[in-house]
Amino acid sequence: MSELPVGKNISPRLLAFITALIIAGVVSVICIPLVKATYFSAIIFAATFLISFLLFYYTVEHFIYRKIKLIYKFIYQTKATKREEFFYNNILPQKSIEEVNKDVQQWAKQKREEIELLQLNEQYRKEFLMNLSHELRTPIFTIQGYVETLLSGAIEDQEVNKKFLTNASKSIDRLVQLVDDVDEISKLESGQTPLAFETFVIHDLIKDIFEEFSLKANEKSLTLEIKKGTERSLSVYADKSKIKQVLVNLIENAIKYGHPNGTITAGCYELDDKRIYVEISDDGPGIEEQHLPRIFERFYRADRSRNRSIGGTGLGLAIVKHIIDAHGQTITVRSKLGVGSSFGFTLDKTNSNS
Ligand code: ADP
Repeated sequence: MSELPVGKNISPRLLAFITALIIAGVVSVICIPLVKATYFSAIIFAATFLISFLLFYYTVEHFIYRKIKLIYKFIYQTKATKREEFFYNNILPQKSIEEVNKDVQQWAKQKREEIELLQLNEQYRKEFLMNLSHELRTPIFTIQGYVETLLSGAIEDQEVNKKFLTNASKSIDRLVQLVDDVDEISKLESGQTPLAFETFVIHDLIKDIFEEFSLKANEKSLTLEIKKGTERSLSVYADKSKIKQVLVNLIENAIKYGHPNGTITAGCYELDDKRIYVEISDDGPGIEEQHLPRIFERFYRADRSRNRSIGGTGLGLAIVKHIIDAHGQTITVRSKLGVGSSFGFTLDKTNSNS
């Protein structure tokens, strides 16, 4: 049995049509005994149908659909463009209340998701500000302490004045480093500095950085070397200055946390015909497994007490991750407490477009 298109997807026009039909039918049936000629009853039917149809259609259109149109205008929050006007005048009147309901539900779902994202970002922002103020506090209070002690007389004490100034200066360096890192991370996040891809030999870059860090490494009697068996020069296609920053941060960490007399190695491996894998390894204290999943988060530190004395900004690895992500590559960490750590990332071998 075929069903009347009543119920689910009824449009205002159809609704007015059916209602008018029913009313006209009922009125005609009532009028049949009162009028003699059948044609007269047909005229009554036609007139009642026409009047009821126009009345219902006008009511639905003007009082309900005008309101729905307002809802649509509100949820899209735009001044109607030509396309939207066409939608309001031609498509919207064809929509059933159920379809309108579905559209509103979809809009509500989309808004809910947007709000959740905003809340997440807000949480992220709050945490970042909290961490930042915490990081700023230590060096600022240290500087304040030394300056106040010097002003209240220690400046005359030849034994301590230089030492206090040197310590204050170290805290200033730390503040500068922190501001530089925050600046770098916000630039990376806002995409202000697009990547400048070029082809270069990764070994040459590593050797240059080893050279730059040779003094620091010597202070701890650390050996910096290219891993045996991976000495063959490999070309990569990446942003050289950004990859330099990645290597500097990883090598600096390996030196900073590495045990004296230890060895830091850089290995470069061909993964397949498209990518290479670069790994910086140390035989330092290692990182506890529980910290590994969060190690690339901003301000995350694996060992707070050890880190306080070493004094990093906690942003080095977050910057590294940002740069590698921007290249569309991956970074991984392998580490074992008491054995050492290895940070490795992939890079494109050469320009795949060339
Ligand atoms: P930081 O400025 O504190 O070094 P990073 O983001 O560079 O910040 O590193 C995050 C944390 O990861 C460090 O605080 C440290 O606990 C741990 N870490 C990073 N590299 C090493 C490493 N080579 N050996 C041991 N721990 C490391």
